[in-house]
Order: sequence, then C-alpha cells, then structure tokens
Amino acid sequence: MNFIPPFDLNEQFKLIGEEVSAAALAILASGRYIGGASVEQFEQQFAQYIGTSSCVGCNSGTDALFLALRSLDIGAGDEVITSPFTFISTAGVISAVGAKPVFTDIDAQTFNLDLDQIEAAITPRTKAIIPVHLFGQPIDMTRLMAIAHSHNLWVIEDCAQSTGATWQGTKLGSIGHIGCFSFYPTKNLGACGDGGAATTNDAAIAAKLRMLRDHGQRQRYTCEAIGVNSRLDALQAAILSIKLRHLDDWNAQRQAIADRYCQMLQPLPGVVTPQAITGGVSVWNQYTIRVLPNASEQGSGLRDRVRQQLQQQGVGSMVYYPYPLHLQPVYADLGYASGDLPVSEQMAQQVLSLPMFPELSAMQQEQVVHTLKDCLV
Ligand SMILES: *Cc1c(COP(=O)(O)O)cnc(C)c1O
Repeated sequence: MNFIPPFDLNEQFKLIGEEVSAAALAILASGRYIGGASVEQFEQQFAQYIGTSSCVGCNSGTDALFLALRSLDIGAGDEVITSPFTFISTAGVISAVGAKPVFTDIDAQTFNLDLDQIEAAITPRTKAIIPVHLFGQPIDMTRLMAIAHSHNLWVIEDCAQSTGATWQGTKLGSIGHIGCFSFYPTKNLGACGDGGAATTNDAAIAAKLRMLRDHGQRQRYTCEAIGVNSRLDALQAAILSIKLRHLDDWNAQRQAIADRYCQMLQPLPGVVTPQAITGGVSVWNQYTIRVLPNASEQGSGLRDRVRQQLQQQGVGSMVYYPYPLHLQPVYADLGYASGDLPVSEQMAQQVLSLPMFPELSAMQQEQVVHTLKDCLV
C-alpha cells in the first residue's frame, strides 16, 4: 500500500497541468509580472463568484486580514474578538495593527466561536469581531451579524479555509463587512505560491484596501497613509482564474468524501465525527474528527498515539491546532490561564484531521478508516 498523505497536489496538477503551464508561460513571455490584466480579471471573477461588488487581491490571507483591520482604522486602544482555535495569523494581525485580541471560547460541535459567549466579552473598546469559518464550516452568520449590529461592531470574516462555503445560500465573505481569503496552496482555492484577497460590498472600504496594499498611494507617489507592499502576482492571478473554474467541482468532491467518511466512521466508539450545521454548507478544507481520551490515555495521549501509529502504517494526518492561541507564549501578557477557555483547550487535545483532498479515492479512504480502526483497539 502506498502512503496516503494528508494532502496531495500532484493529482490535481495532472488534471489541469497543461492549462496552468500554458497560462504561466504566457505571463512569463508577456514581461508584465506585477498587476495588469490577469490580476484585474481574477479580481472581477472572484468578486462575482463570492457575490460582492469588489475584490482586492493581495499577497496572502494574513495580509488580507491585516489590510482589512487597517482599512477600518482599527489600531491601538481597540479590542477585536476572535477565536482562540485557529491559525496564529487570525490573532497575529490584530496585534500587528496595535489592537488587542480578545479570545472567546468555541463550540465543540462546529469548532467555531460559541455565539452565546461573544456578548459578555464586548467592552466600549471593542471594534470588531473576526469569526473564522474553521475547516470550511460556516458559523451562523445571521446570529453573528445580529450581535455585531446591536453593538455597532465591524465583522471581518476569516474565510481562509472556506472558499465557496455558504450560509443560508449566500457565500461566506459577502455577509460580513469584509471577507478575507487565502490562496495558500492547501486551501480550497490554492495558488502555486502565496496569495490572498479581501472582498467587500463597500466601495469606500475597497478603495482604502487598494490604497493600503500599494504603500498608501491612491495616486502614484502621493502617500496618504503608511501602507504595505502586498500584491497578488500576475502569475498567481492567471493560475487562480483557471482553478476558480474547477472550484465548485472540487468542493463537491470534498463533500462526497466527507459523506463517505461519516458513513464509514459512524459507529466508532471513542470518535466524534464532524457534523454539518443546519443552514450552512461546508467546503471541508479539513475533515477533523475528535479522538476522545480514555481511562489509560488522558489528555492528548490517545490522539497522539493514534496519529503516530497511523503514520507508521501509511496514513498521514494532521493536528490543527495543538495549542489554543490564548495559551501561546507570545500572548502570555494578555493574562489568560489554562482552563480559561476549556472547550478550545480540550479540542486542541482531541482533534485529528484525516486525509482530505478532492482526488482522494474511495479505496484510499477505506485504507484510512481501516487503519484508524486498527489503531484505536
Ligand atoms: C491559512 C490561514 C490564514 C492565513 O493565510 P496565509 O495565506 O497563509 O497568510 C489565516 N487564517 C486561517 C484560518 C488560515 O487557515
């Protein structure tokens, strides 16, 4: 049996390699590598796909989040509520603009922010909420927007893992004030390098995002703010336009794989499988189960052993994320202690993401599940 990686891009390249290579060569031959038609075209296509009036391409998902905060003038003295159970960049950008991240606990069923706990964390300094649609699963945006409206807060959606997912039929990234996307190669829509974008229906915000991503210039050599250099490369834009045409098919394949995992894993004691949320459609960037501790293997003990054994028996898996952000060394000065956000802490000890990519075959899935069952006894 061949090793089954947690993620594999080679199969996808076999499928679209010719088209991608031709587009890349055309850009290389054009001599126009920064900006130009391919970037503008992709921005238009992506805005149309998400259902917003604007899309502003940039260098990464992290930059999209950073620019979003800056475009809303969030900085020193401000607080931003977000999840402690996410990739570091979601909170890192809050710190990077000089504001303070405020973490509230998550819901064990969805791994997303627990909507019952947000209001208690709102203070006069709170300016925004950054919900993360983790693993591709949407948060209840109706409730979240209601909370935000009643407290006059901005909502920046971290859609890095949820490109194409919907809440009540509407694409994520078009419901909050700004949607932030990553085109890191392992995301649902991945470039062949770094890339990101921010989407919005607010023309003034879009103009500000464009100004900030280009050194604070609206007009060349007239700077009105300290911006950054955060561009989406012409090469990446051309490749993303090709891949965007396949995205819905790939997301449908991920859904079928998730359904099959769910069926195959259903009566498996000690394992909790992810459940879709009513009203939302996930795009399954990850298929993440929980391995529950038992009497002899406490904390993360059983999960860690299972992961190690899977690896030895030819099945790759990942732990997203082993440490909740409120307990990261860099945030020691925020004053959180172990036990403050118990659900996030527990999930960090139990989660295990199984192989998930559109080309994963039914046979490979059977091997994953068979091996997992072996490791659990
Ligand atoms: C990947 C990711 C980011 C950052 O995106 P980059 O393009 O890698 O900078 C932010 N938030 C979440 C939840 C992510 O998964």
